[in-house]
Amino acid sequence: MTPRSINETSQWTLSEETAKGPPRATFVVTCVTCGSESGVVDDESHPVEMWALRHTSLHTDHRQFRLTTEWFLRVDPAPGNPLHDTEKENTP
Ligand SMILES: [Zn+2]
Repeated sequence: MTPRSINETSQWTLSEETAKGPPRATFVVTCVTCGSESGVVDDESHPVEMWALRHTSLHTDHRQFRLTTEWFLRVDPAPGNPLHDTEKENTP
């Protein structure tokens, strides 16, 4: 990485998306044995964990699952970035 790209990267901050609209995260569990899926659930993993437990109780030899999650992030201008003050002034 060149010094220029380090400088450009330091002018931005990465954080969890907290705006209304998108979920904080999504979760889905897939049975490794048969490929059945729990369905996608927003914001908490408990429903897909319960799905895995129920699935194994119905198919006692299906005991491995793959959890897939999406976590929504955002990048904003950091202090020192010319856009930092401009965007802060325009925020209601
Ligand atoms: Zn299964």
